[in-house]
Amino acid sequence: MSLHKELIDRDRKVTFHASTHLRDFAHGDAPGRVISGGKGIHIVDKDGREFIDGFAGLYCVNIGYGRTEVAEAIYRQALELSYYHTYVGHANEPQIQLSEKILELAGPGMSKVYYGMSGSDANETQLKIVRYYNNVLGRPAKKKVISRMRGYHGSGIASGSLTGLKAFHDHFDLPIETIRHTEAPFYYQRSAEQAGMNEREFSQHCATKLEEMILAEGPETVAAFIGEPVLGTGGIVPPPEGYWEAIQTVLAKYDVLLIADEVVCGFGRIGTDFGSHFYGIKPDLITVAKGLTSAYQPLSGVIVGDRVWQVLEQGTGEFGPIGHGWTYSGHALGCAAGLANLEIIEREGLTQNAAETGGYLQQAMAKAFGDHPIVGNVRGVGMLAALEFSPDPAKRTAFDPALKVGPRIAAAAMDENLIARAMPQGDILGFAPPLITTRAEVDEIVARARRAVDRVLDELANNEDLK
Ligand SMILES: *Cc1c(COP(=O)(O)O)cnc(C)c1O
Repeated sequence: MSLHKELIDRDRKVTFHASTHLRDFAHGDAPGRVISGGKGIHIVDKDGREFIDGFAGLYCVNIGYGRTEVAEAIYRQALELSYYHTYVGHANEPQIQLSEKILELAGPGMSKVYYGMSGSDANETQLKIVRYYNNVLGRPAKKKVISRMRGYHGSGIASGSLTGLKAFHDHFDLPIETIRHTEAPFYYQRSAEQAGMNEREFSQHCATKLEEMILAEGPETVAAFIGEPVLGTGGIVPPPEGYWEAIQTVLAKYDVLLIADEVVCGFGRIGTDFGSHFYGIKPDLITVAKGLTSAYQPLSGVIVGDRVWQVLEQGTGEFGPIGHGWTYSGHALGCAAGLANLEIIEREGLTQNAAETGGYLQQAMAKAFGDHPIVGNVRGVGMLAALEFSPDPAKRTAFDPALKVGPRIAAAAMDENLIARAMPQGDILGFAPPLITTRAEVDEIVARARRAVDRVLDELANNEDLK
């Protein structure tokens, strides 16, 4: 028995894995894999098999694997001080420096950074801030938060409620009472009634749906709107033209706060420091995680804008110190990793690379898949890309979900030693390579993806269940 198989079998007995078919995995009917190393855009498993990680872990290892500089920064900080809490005004130096750096990158209008460990907990903080804000302002009814269908904002009770994906709600009694979901800005999947619309018209339609929802709920009950600049886990969908402008007009009209969930887009992924900069979004609050440390340590943040900050100050003036805190807020090792990561991004021009090599990725994907018989849509921006599969691209029809076309293509890509991700709710293959990816590596990713898609096309044709 190989060491790898032995390890996996031990794991089956003891670990509850995220997003896993628990029974099949525990009983040996679903595959496992132990990852033991990584360098650049590659990871290696315990058998020594090497993969291109075309998804940067979960769109987070932006500087690539094996950066000893970050490991050393963490080590040096650990020798000095791993941890002291940041309650009642206590601080550590990497946390101060990192806050300065984050605010510098976020640009004007942003005031303070609150730290957590994950995107989910950061969005919990957002929801608490929004409630507190309206209580201080004497608007106790203004508490509902509108998210989008297909939005992804985490996996907790509240953050999972913000998420607009079925699998995260069903059997967990979610969403919770104060959360609503409006139309996804998903132009390719627009319904028959919207078929004739151009992108701008569809954006206006989304904004109208949002306005109708605010009016139906009562504007005095709607506190905030949350959205990712580019829908991530919901399908890697850049917004249609004019979307954010139209949405922001509605939010301003009804005094609804805007939370930009920048967990994926933040720190360079689409070629700007924040996705908000790319799309002209002016958020009141920003959520960051993933790319903040390139996952060398768990760390997230809530960036609070001036307008909200003023009210938080006013509230503590009235009620005393804020009743919110995580033990590990501002963890010194997380902040040291974040600083080292942001230094690398700046020094190596990785945000610029995401724009340039990302542009090349978009071209290469369009060239390889634009006319492919089972690819209905090729989309993306910067270092985010997706293929959406269809038995009849001209009609934008979907495959029978029972065929599991998306997961089969992701499995075929694995056979090519390429990791791409089958996204939930639809046959969509997602790509989010590290920001260090070169043009030659893009060519290799696209070539492997093409072989994988062609192989599943052949299987489908042979089974005659293509249509
Ligand atoms: C991953 C993600 C989250 C949740 O982050 P976790 O660290 O998994 O809790 C929140 N928002 C977006 C946009 C994400 O992609």
